[in-house]
Amino acid sequence: MLKHKILSADNILKRGWPCYPFCQLCMTHLETAQHLACSCSFTASVWTIVTRHFQLVGTPPLPSDDPPQDWWQKACTTVTRNQRKNFSGLLMYLWWNVWKERNRRVFQNSFQSISFVSSLVISDFTSFASFSALEM
Ligand SMILES: [Zn+2]
Repeated sequence: MLKHKILSADNILKRGWPCYPFCQLCMTHLETAQHLACSCSFTASVWTIVTRHFQLVGTPPLPSDDPPQDWWQKACTTVTRNQRKNFSGLLMYLWWNVWKERNRRVFQNSFQSISFVSSLVISDFTSFASFSALEM
């Protein structure tokens, strides 16, 4: 997603394939990797719920225009050195679950709520953290 190589609507259109160009999560913006990862209101809401759940109070909101990689590096400075690996893992589970929700909507015409997708991120991350014996 961060390398803009996923088949988001903008990349599908570049290939000349037909598709619905708007984000399936918010229905208001052109679907790009940048939008799905950061500036989509759906993704931002999920991130807010997840950061509150894990009490990441100093974490900045997802960027609307900055490249996600730049934001990621800055955001990593808001957690302790020991938490960085888990913080990065949490972001991966966020973006993975947002992408899966996008695909559910596109391919299965199935819609999950922000709170449900948030619970999936929290559940996936909690499993990862307990499996890797690391704490957030
Ligand atoms: Zn959106």
